[in-house]
Amino acid sequence: MSFKIGLLGLGTVGTGTAEILLSPEGRHPLVQELEIYRVGVRDISKPRDVQISKEILTTDLEAIAKDPEVDIVVELLGGLEPARSLILKAIAHGKHVVTANKAVISRFAEEIYDAANEKGVYVMLEAAVGGGIPIIQPLKQTLGVNRIQAITGIVNGTTNYILTRMQNEGADFADVLADAQKLGYAEADPTADVEGFDAADKIAILASLAFGGRIKLEEVYHEGISKVGAADIAYAEKLGFVIKLLAVAKQMTVAPNQPEQLQVRVHPTLVPKQHPLASVSGVYNAIFVEGDPIGQVMFYGRGAGAGPTASAVVSDILNIASILKTVSQPPTPILHPLLACTHQHYCQIAPMDELVTRFYARFLTNDSPGVIGHLGTAFGNQGVSLESVVQTGFQGDLAEIVVVTHDVREGNFRQALAEIRSLEAVDSIASLLRVL
Ligand code: NAP
Repeated sequence: MSFKIGLLGLGTVGTGTAEILLSPEGRHPLVQELEIYRVGVRDISKPRDVQISKEILTTDLEAIAKDPEVDIVVELLGGLEPARSLILKAIAHGKHVVTANKAVISRFAEEIYDAANEKGVYVMLEAAVGGGIPIIQPLKQTLGVNRIQAITGIVNGTTNYILTRMQNEGADFADVLADAQKLGYAEADPTADVEGFDAADKIAILASLAFGGRIKLEEVYHEGISKVGAADIAYAEKLGFVIKLLAVAKQMTVAPNQPEQLQVRVHPTLVPKQHPLASVSGVYNAIFVEGDPIGQVMFYGRGAGAGPTASAVVSDILNIASILKTVSQPPTPILHPLLACTHQHYCQIAPMDELVTRFYARFLTNDSPGVIGHLGTAFGNQGVSLESVVQTGFQGDLAEIVVVTHDVREGNFRQALAEIRSLEAVDSIASLLRVL
């Protein structure tokens, strides 16, 4: 028995995937039964880094999605369209789908899973979050018995690379970004990575799996790293923290009989140096899961790149092939419950004002007596208690004061900041970060 694969895309991940499929030696025996049947690309004449016969290349991607010979369509195009339409077309023609496309899944999961459930086909997406790190399947299967309390991840390699270099070199964001672009670690248009959009897509997917409900992407708060300064990294270091872009999905504590609420958010965060996520450096990703009864478990590895991402893609193909091999009939609409994503309800996402966390803030103020006292009074008026206040130095004529709070409701903290902004002695709030 062999399974015919229709590959949509032969770029970074498509090439990595083809390389695995074309060299089955030493891998799972089922890899030998996977045949690259057709490959859809934009430009057939482009030189390719993998030995694929020109005969099976086509620019007619729709024909692959509809081809009666194809068993599994593997979407590795990226972007929203034509990826979304081709996935839906493949499903409509009874194909199982594997995709690495977090952007499509985080926006159109509902439409795609409804179509897949109706047709009785599988949609697998291990490569969409964390590249080569197995996290989707563990959340669906091996950790499925747990009540998940929180997922905290470093899920964007570009921003982790930039922050790590800022930390190691004391460099500014803009300089490291420019260098990362030259070295190919950041895109020419870095917005999706550095402003947290990519991480928001990924945490929306993880939250949906971990907490068993659909997530509206527009309700996921995201803030990027472009405002993190070299000064913040240096002060964080002195205070015992490193700054990481964290993607967090967490169950909120609510009063009895109140509906469950989740926090789903992405923002730069001060992470205590002793936390396992603090040592995740460079382009590496890690996802820290807390649940009952598992406790804490961390998944760590390469979050991108041809090989690691293709490892996740081919493992999804294998999963589907092994199920198809063990059932005599193609699956009916009653899908393997652990492979399907059948959530019908939406998770309720709490507004950011309700978040309770510690904050780090850096103020630029006049160098006049009593300023720290004024700040303390403004915080005290809103019930914000301070863990530490340090006058750290000067920027020109202005004094720099860094504050770390105890846990506080974000809404209260922001009210205190509004009062602080109106103080005559305060020039500006140079930065504001949350603390894990
Ligand atoms: P890529 O290198 O840009 O490759 C895209 C491929 O799709 C190319 O082969 C391109 O054809 C083809 N393609 C794109 N649009 C097309 C269209 N309209 N018609 C026909 N062919 C089209 O992308 P990638 O980095 O492999 O990423 C693929 C997916 O994997 C994305 O969803 C991405 O988010 C995800 N992913 C990537 C990584 C990574 O490390 N790169 C990691 C995790 C997930 P040509 O070759 O002819 O130009």
